[in-house]
Amino acid sequence: MKNLNPNIQERLLKLARRRTVPFCYSCYQEVLTNHCPKCFSDDLLVCLPGSGIEWGLTWAIEQLIKDNLTPMNVSDAFDDSVSQIFPETTTLGWMLVDTVRAMKDYDPVSWEIAQSEWLMNDESEGLITTFDNGSTYFYTSDIEQFLDETDKETEDSYDESFSGIQ
Ligand SMILES: [Zn+2]
Repeated sequence: MKNLNPNIQERLLKLARRRTVPFCYSCYQEVLTNHCPKCFSDDLLVCLPGSGIEWGLTWAIEQLIKDNLTPMNVSDAFDDSVSQIFPETTTLGWMLVDTVRAMKDYDPVSWEIAQSEWLMNDESEGLITTFDNGSTYFYTSDIEQFLDETDKETEDSYDESFSGIQ
């Protein structure tokens, strides 16, 4: 998430705050303010309904992304990006071979290195991001779309609560 633009990070934090409830683990109950009314502890966890109770909003953000978005298929995406740069087929002797397939088969190590460099480049440009140190990646555009949708939900629910007040 560190490569994400600060505006998106801020929106993710706001979403995580909206979707979570502070939780006192000792009393095992949700807390509505910033300290527990029973034991007065302010050492609170966050509860994300349906997903669990853990420390910190960073966890909640990661969980919200994993619950709502599909991770990028790195291998397919790299194949696509290479096939946009090079011709679809290549002549190898008398054979006409699929360029991507042939490159992968001929030198898998070179292919792997190029793929991880490409991934790091896209990450540093903020096009993709990881919340789990590179096990999975998500498109920034998907995250922004998700944030736009959830912002809309909030406006809708505000409308409903206001319309209830006569
Ligand atoms: Zn408590």
